[in-house]
Amino acid sequence: MKPTRPANPRPAERRFHGHPVAPGIGIGPVHEAAEPDLFITAKKLGADDIPAELARLEEALERSRHQLHKLKHRLAALPENSQAEIAPLMDMYLHMLGSARLLRGVRARIQEGPLAAEAAVQDETEAQAAAIMAQPGTDKAGRLRRADEVRELGRRVVRNLTRQPFRSFAGLAPGSILAARALRPSDAALIQPDRFAGIVTAEGGADGHTAVMLRALGLPAVLGAEGVLAGTAPGTFAIIDGDSGEIILHPSPASLETARRKLAAQTRAKRSLARLARLPAVTRCGTAVALQANLELPFELPMIAESGAHGIGLLRSEFMFMNRETLPDEDLQTRIYSTIIEAMDGDPVTIRVLDWGSDKEVEALARYQPRELEPNPALGLRGIRLLLRHPALFETQLAAIIRASAAGPVRIMLPMVSLVSEVVEARVILLRVWRRLKRRKNLVLPPAPPPLGIMVETPAAALAAPVLARHADFFAIGTNDLTMYTLAADRASPAGTRLYDPLEPAVLRLIHLTANFAKAAGIQVSLCGELAARPQAAPLLLGLGIRQFSMHGNAIPRVKQVIRGATLAACEALAEAALQAESAEAVRRILAGDAD
Ligand code: PEP
Ligand code: MG
Repeated sequence: MKPTRPANPRPAERRFHGHPVAPGIGIGPVHEAAEPDLFITAKKLGADDIPAELARLEEALERSRHQLHKLKHRLAALPENSQAEIAPLMDMYLHMLGSARLLRGVRARIQEGPLAAEAAVQDETEAQAAAIMAQPGTDKAGRLRRADEVRELGRRVVRNLTRQPFRSFAGLAPGSILAARALRPSDAALIQPDRFAGIVTAEGGADGHTAVMLRALGLPAVLGAEGVLAGTAPGTFAIIDGDSGEIILHPSPASLETARRKLAAQTRAKRSLARLARLPAVTRCGTAVALQANLELPFELPMIAESGAHGIGLLRSEFMFMNRETLPDEDLQTRIYSTIIEAMDGDPVTIRVLDWGSDKEVEALARYQPRELEPNPALGLRGIRLLLRHPALFETQLAAIIRASAAGPVRIMLPMVSLVSEVVEARVILLRVWRRLKRRKNLVLPPAPPPLGIMVETPAAALAAPVLARHADFFAIGTNDLTMYTLAADRASPAGTRLYDPLEPAVLRLIHLTANFAKAAGIQVSLCGELAARPQAAPLLLGLGIRQFSMHGNAIPRVKQVIRGATLAACEALAEAALQAESAEAVRRILAGDAD
């Protein structure tokens, strides 16, 4: 008798390989998300439609910025090499979105066409991409990449304008493994990581922007798994292993069991990181460390609350001034600060007054500071230098901060200080504003003006710290700028990035000096540059004398974990070795524990 075959034989297990791009195990049904075409019906407008069209543009730009900021802030929780690669791309997109040139071009096309906003964006980004390609020079690959980036940004704005989906990720069943032929970095920006079990593509390499972006999402991902899409139908069950790059379609019960065990172990590790939010940041030898959050945009507030941060160590107030045609008045600023201070529920908030100039363009302030007059913006009028030139602007902000300080503990911080006279002058203005407010009726004010401190982000400020400490109530070391100005290397320029490294012993020495001087003067010192968010650097910074860190909220748990495992004696030995090292590379080896 012939053996009977089961009615629905289980398909045989099939294995594929790709580039392991983001670690972790994903188990679930595969669903492909094909990229929809982008349609632009290049319509002409009537003159009456122009204001509404400009408003649509502003809204789409705001949505685009919001998406990019969200993605950027996820980066802080990543290994530092991923951050180092992708953060400049995000910054560059954001810079382009705030760039007067691109926006002026688009607005002019809307007004002069008059053209629909999507057509104006497409034409302008295409024209700029063509201009990049027409530039002389041999670096064709570099020009192609930059032209692609401009087009990519244009597509983002157009999709936001026309509400055409980036891809229909939202329609995919929760828990699916998202499959695609290829993904762009901007697609990755729209993936909600908690909705998917993993990501697989048939094309793409391990080193591209998309790969780094997917790591940023924290979802298991395998890219460039050739042939994988041909093997799947919608709903095909699969396992992806983001550590080995293996994809198993129709897994056998044994393969499934192994994958489930690995997944459970990973989930336990993640939970223990989340539990850290409630534990104190204290070293194994009992030294308490304050971990605070940097805040760039108010929508990050809920994330800060979850992170276990004790206050805001750096509120970059630039957000209130950017992307708007007019300046925020005293009442509006007071309301915004008060909301943030109240949300922090008694934890201190350090508000940095407007750090404007250099690469931080503020459209509404362009008339005060025409860029053409500043041949080298990073070395010209910036931060406190500019504010002191425009006292009305400075006084409005100080008045708003003083008024808001009735809602909770606040500190005021000055950016880009390099001279004692800047702090002295700023304090005179602060006291003048304070006295003026005291004379106003019906204002609730605290008993004294908030403490006034400074960012130490120029070598001059670090070297003059003992004298500055006589005039400043606290220091916050800004390693982003301190690195740039110490090494004379612009992190935004591709040639400079190789030189730009906060682990260079010269920069570490300035951090050490500042921490020591602050201690001797009896004032608080924190570190709020990106270096504070690197878990690997935490023992070094402790050893250099830093006890207060401020960083993106989502970096806090990992930094805390490292601090809880550290002892001060070991950190100090590490710092001593790093200060004697000859290069950032040597410091990295010391931090990794493989110094000779
Ligand atoms: C810094 O320079 O380190 C800093 C925190 O300021 P920003 O990055 O806003 O310039
Ligand atoms: Mg700075």
